[in-house]
Amino acid sequence: MKKHPAVFLDRDGTIHEEVGYLSRIDQLKLFPDTAEALRMIREMGRLAVVITNQSGVARGFFEESFLDEVHREIENRLEKEGARIDGFYYCPHHPHSGNPPYRRDCDCRKPKPGLILRAAEEMNIDIGRSYMIGDMIKDIQAGVRAGAPGILVRTGYGGNVVRTDLPLYVAPNLLDAVKWIREQEAT
Ligand SMILES: [Mg+2]
Ligand SMILES: [Zn+2]
Repeated sequence: MKKHPAVFLDRDGTIHEEVGYLSRIDQLKLFPDTAEALRMIREMGRLAVVITNQSGVARGFFEESFLDEVHREIENRLEKEGARIDGFYYCPHHPHSGNPPYRRDCDCRKPKPGLILRAAEEMNIDIGRSYMIGDMIKDIQAGVRAGAPGILVRTGYGGNVVRTDLPLYVAPNLLDAVKWIREQEAT
């Protein structure tokens, strides 16, 4: 079976505003261009897959069921704008906070590549033709370790990142990042 190219996306600070451990639905504010960026990803024949660290679970700020609620809300809002996300993958762990089973040195917390590798396996994704977009260097590192080059966005915490050697491209926001991917495909 033919494998799909994808765009892996960080969540907080990349598709919606970074509020620091989003723990209430009313804090969820998608960026104005997120739906357009996702429609563009789809038009390119790529899957859009969220890859997100959610250590707020391990830290006791919210439960995993709340993450499901947030992800359903994101899907509902996007659907109204003709956009969608094909998969949500999260790491609820933290190596030092909370209690087991969430307190553990897992292989899925970015910058580790575990979530991307799992998504690729389950969704039949060709990582070598895929990209990872995020607002932190650990997003880029996770992509690179999995085999997908990273694009840094300057939204969220991205404005503070000084290390620009690792990302393949630095974009002001998600839509610009996706347009850049589209340009690469055209050449
Ligand atoms: Mg982020
Ligand atoms: Zn994990």
